[in-house]
Amino acid sequence: MFLGCLSCALNVEVETLGGMPYQLLVRLIFVETADMNGIKTHKIQSWQLQFRQSLPLWMKIRYTEKRIVDWYERNHGKVYVAFSGGKDSTVLLHLVRELYSSVPAVFINTGLEYPEIMQFVRETENVIWLCPKMSFKKVLEKYGYPVVSKENAQKLYEIKNTKSDKLRNIRLFGGEKGNGKLPEKWKFLIDADFKISDKCCSVMKKRPALAYEKISGKKPFIGTMAADSSLRKISYLKTGCNFFKTKRPVSTPLSFWLESDIWDYLRIKKIPYSTIYDLGFERTGCMFCMFGVHLDKGENRFQRMKKTHPKQYDYCINKLGIGKVLDALHICY
Ligand code: SF4
Repeated sequence: MFLGCLSCALNVEVETLGGMPYQLLVRLIFVETADMNGIKTHKIQSWQLQFRQSLPLWMKIRYTEKRIVDWYERNHGKVYVAFSGGKDSTVLLHLVRELYSSVPAVFINTGLEYPEIMQFVRETENVIWLCPKMSFKKVLEKYGYPVVSKENAQKLYEIKNTKSDKLRNIRLFGGEKGNGKLPEKWKFLIDADFKISDKCCSVMKKRPALAYEKISGKKPFIGTMAADSSLRKISYLKTGCNFFKTKRPVSTPLSFWLESDIWDYLRIKKIPYSTIYDLGFERTGCMFCMFGVHLDKGENRFQRMKKTHPKQYDYCINKLGIGKVLDALHICY
């Protein structure tokens, strides 16, 4: 399957690849923009990502380690691991510390993490704890609820708050090529009697991280994967794993991993992970976040929380007003 895909992309006959050692082929596929001192800017193609995602785990580990070494050396060891206590950043932290044992983990305590995640972070060594300057409640009051997706919450916020007629029209009706528009199915939220915005992540997570990076001079390793979302895939295709030439340089050396690789790595290496996964939660992150809740399959995160964390459920549904928002979205809880 892979050779077929590769031959299409390179526009050559499969036979011409015969004889080329497999490992050399893999090295060619892994040549990246950022490996060229950040000078070249050619993008990664979708087929390259697919190929990388189809590699066996041992090979992914090898190439991830190369990215980690590259990032560490070019930043003269001034690096840290963005650690959420979830399984992806647990794997990333392990990979980084296998190579450089003293690299710190940085955890942002938003007040929205599951108790099981908090416990796991407390048990992890060398973790720096940061806090946002604003509480989640204040963010909801000042900016609005994080609903649907980052992209669409931003559009809804702009429709209601921008002073630019041009931008509002683009968000409502699309730009010249019809792009940038809020999808029709979410337009009813324009008239919702609660605020909606995409600002939460930026206030609760990004700002504390940027402040830490400014003071410490350290650059982050982040455990995101292209398979997580279309936004992350687009970003990876543009930049690759190690992105130096940007306002906020970041390394995402697990970009070409899949969720199954994460589980395999945890099991093979016998690494402890948060017990939250044993309660049936596939994704962790912020307990009260509504981004993507309409896509939850079967029992959604709030229905599950009702059984596993009734105190937190009551607080978010009744005190934070999440129940009212879920009602408007026609989501059961
Ligand atoms: S994941 Fe959701 S709740 Fe958490 S900081 Fe981002 S928007 Fe807010």
